[in-house]
Amino acid sequence: MTTEILLELENISKTFKVRDKYNPGKPSFVHAVDGVNLAVEKGETLGIVGESGCGKSTTGRMIMRLLDASKGKIYYRGTDLSSLKGKSLLKMRKKIQMVFQDPYASLNPRLTIAENVGEPLIIHKLIKSRADRDEQVKELLGQVGLDPSYYTRYPFEFSGGQRQRIGIARALAVEPEIIIADEPVSALDVSLQAQVINLMQDLKQQKNLTYIFIAHDLSVVKHISDRVAVMYLGRVVELAEKHSLFDNPMHPYTQALLSAIPVPTPGAKEDRIVLQGDVPSPMNPPSGCPFHPRCSKAFDKCRECMPELKLVGKGHSTACHLYD
Ligand code: SF4
Repeated sequence: MTTEILLELENISKTFKVRDKYNPGKPSFVHAVDGVNLAVEKGETLGIVGESGCGKSTTGRMIMRLLDASKGKIYYRGTDLSSLKGKSLLKMRKKIQMVFQDPYASLNPRLTIAENVGEPLIIHKLIKSRADRDEQVKELLGQVGLDPSYYTRYPFEFSGGQRQRIGIARALAVEPEIIIADEPVSALDVSLQAQVINLMQDLKQQKNLTYIFIAHDLSVVKHISDRVAVMYLGRVVELAEKHSLFDNPMHPYTQALLSAIPVPTPGAKEDRIVLQGDVPSPMNPPSGCPFHPRCSKAFDKCRECMPELKLVGKGHSTACHLYD
């Protein structure tokens, strides 16, 4: 079976210039994303996982062109996204939509749901009248499991889970091909998380969508993802098909993240790997393997040489000197 690549990230990096409070005269640089290569196939869900500050959201924002990459290229259906301006950028934005962690922040509290969800329809000139907009919004609300009559209400009248459904309806309004969901369930409690994930799964099937699903927790991406990329300090350290990653994690960081997922039976898991310390500052990343200060398996080479992401099994890549 041939696969169609929709998105390709080619060696992308993002560096932010920041003011160092201990050295205000000298600018410092944060390497938020550092040489990421990823390809996203049509119809798949690619999970991107890592702790706060690992560069996963910055990667999502660069794909949306909310941020420009400092280096590297991002291609959508072979077109270099950095070359797009004006109408062609708007056309691309119709094809790639984003769902945010905090739907309340992405909805205008002064606008009704019809106005919030219908806004992209106006921007992309997809409706002819207000009645047309209202009809489409009602249809979208039904698709995300909300009562269509809610279209006249305001965001504050909804719960967190309902607001996230409204955020999904807004993203779906322009019939995108790809949805980048940035921590879409992190603000919800566990039962609501499952409902929103199930809804996203159903919509993916119905509308033939492709997802990039960003989360800080591997257990969240487990059900929805086909493949998972694990990021650490701006780099992809492991990339694999979901079952391969969960059954046979290769990178010590992925092993630690997986061991931290709670199991239903108390005492069933005794081999929890506790990560020592915090993620180092991306302003001053460690030498060699960026994970070495926290890695229980680190050896001399790890402190000197940066491991490259390389294939270690069928469709399974990792960046670790243990597999050199
Ligand atoms: Fe640990 Fe070394 Fe592998 Fe990095 S390269 S994850 S420090 S063993």
